[in-house]
Amino acid sequence: MVFEVRDGRELASHPILAPMLHSAMTAVAIPPSSSNAQVAGSRTHGLKDAARAALHYLETVDGRAVAPSAEAVAALHQLCGPLPAAPASPEEIVHLLDAYGSPATVAKNNGRFFGFVNGGCLPAALAASWMVSAWDQNAAQWVQSPVAAALEETALEWTRQLLNLPAGTGGAVVTGATMANFTALAAARHALYERLGWDVENDGLVGAPPITVVLGEEAHPSVSKALGLLGLGRNRVLRVPADSQGRIRADALPHLDERTILCLQAGNVNTGAFDPAAAILPEARKSGAWIHIDGAFGLWAASSPAYSHLTRGFEQADSWATDGHKWPNIGYDCGIALVRQPQSLRAAMSIQAPYLVQGERREPSDYNPELSRRARGVELWAGLRSLGRAGMAAIVERTSSHAQRFAAGLRAAGYEVLNEVVINQVLVSFGSPEKTLRTIARLQQDGTCWCGSTVWQGRTAMRISVSSWATTEDDVDRSLGAMLRAAQD
Ligand SMILES: *Cc1c(COP(=O)(O)O)cnc(C)c1O
Repeated sequence: MVFEVRDGRELASHPILAPMLHSAMTAVAIPPSSSNAQVAGSRTHGLKDAARAALHYLETVDGRAVAPSAEAVAALHQLCGPLPAAPASPEEIVHLLDAYGSPATVAKNNGRFFGFVNGGCLPAALAASWMVSAWDQNAAQWVQSPVAAALEETALEWTRQLLNLPAGTGGAVVTGATMANFTALAAARHALYERLGWDVENDGLVGAPPITVVLGEEAHPSVSKALGLLGLGRNRVLRVPADSQGRIRADALPHLDERTILCLQAGNVNTGAFDPAAAILPEARKSGAWIHIDGAFGLWAASSPAYSHLTRGFEQADSWATDGHKWPNIGYDCGIALVRQPQSLRAAMSIQAPYLVQGERREPSDYNPELSRRARGVELWAGLRSLGRAGMAAIVERTSSHAQRFAAGLRAAGYEVLNEVVINQVLVSFGSPEKTLRTIARLQQDGTCWCGSTVWQGRTAMRISVSSWATTEDDVDRSLGAMLRAAQD
C-alpha cells in the first residue's frame, strides 16, 4: 500500500511519527509550510509498509521453523541479480524484502534459537533502533548528535554499574565483543608503550621494544584476531593451559611484569566457565601487567545477586570487553569496551582535525575506533532502561535455570552433559561424534529449535546457549522433546 501525505494531517496523527515531528518542530520552531509537508510526506514513503511487515513478522515468528527452508534460501536469487537501470519505490523495496527476505531469516525472536550465544531483541531496544534509524544521527560527536552522545555516555555508566566495575571507568560502544577486545587492547597497548617511552600510535610497532601477551588456551579467537589487528600478532602470545572447563590454570601462569598484557575470560563460549579471577588478579596487578577481561556474555552475571560470585575479582582488571547483543538482548550490533583509566583509551583513539571541533564534553570519536557511526548507544540505553537492574538480573537467572532444565532433561534421557552448567551454556554428547552430528542435523531440520555443534576438548558436542529474554519453560520443554526425537535412531 502506498502511504502518501497530501497535507500533513496524516503525519500529524501518526502514533509514532507525530510526537517526533512535534518535538522536531518545537526544537527549532519552524512553522510548517505546505511544501515542507509535501517533502515530509515523501520522507515517510514505505515506512508504514515496513512497520506492518515487521509487526506481522514478529507476531507470526512463533509459528515458523527456526531455520529457513531450502526453498526460501534458494528464492533469495530474486534479490541478487544485476542492479536494475530503473529506480524502484520504497514500497516496492519493502515488498521485495518481505516477500523474499523475511522467509530466508533465521527466526531468532521466538525464544528457541540456542545457537552460538545469541539473545533476542528486547522490544524497547527494537523500538529505539527504529527511532535511531528515523533520526539518522551520526554519533561521532556531540555537535552532530547531543542525544546520541548523552545516551551513549549514560548507557556506558549503567553498564559499568551493572558489571560492578570501578567508578571512573570509561569506554566505547562498538559493534561487538571482537571490536570491544580490539578497542580495549588498543588502550592496553598504549599504556604499556607509554611506560616504555615509546609512542606507539605515532611511531608504530616496527622497531618497538617487545611486549608479551598471555592468553589462556581456551581464550576466544576474537582476542587473537584483535591482537593481529593491533600488530601484536596472533602467534606472538604465551598460551597458558586450561582445565577441563576451559578455565585458565592459575598455577601455570608465566612471569608477569609491566611489559605484559594478561587476557582472562569471564564466560567461556562453550562451557560458560569463568577464569579464577579472585585467585589471579591481586598478584597479577602487583606485577604491573595490564589485565584485560573478555567477558562477552559472562560478565553480566555480575548483575544478579545469585550469580555475581562467579565474577568476583574481575573488577580488579584494567579493561573489559562485553556484548550488548548477547545476554542483555540489545539488537545487533552492540559491543562495549570499558577501560579503568579512560585516558589510555582516549590516547589510543582520539582524532583531531580543524573541522572536528572539540566540545567540553566526552566526544565519542575520541574513544571509538570509528568516526561516523550509528547511534547504537541509544539502543543500549533503551534496552537497559527497560530492564532496570532487576530485569537484567532476571534474564541471567531465568536463562541459567533454563540451561539447568535442559541439562537435567538430557541426563535423565541417558545423554552425557560434558560441562558443569554454571550459567546459560550446556554441552551434550549423544554418543559417537557421528551420532551427535546426525542428531544436530535432524534437530535443525525439524525446526522446533536450533542448536549448533562444537568440539570440546576433543569431544564432538551439541551446544545449547540459552540467551534470549523470550525463552519460556514451555520453549525449553518443546525443544527438549525435539532433541530427544532427533536423537532416536
Ligand atoms: C561471542 C564472544 C566473542 C565475540 O563477540 P562478537 O560480539 O561476536 O564479536 C568474544 N568472546 C567471547 C567469550 C564470546 O562469547
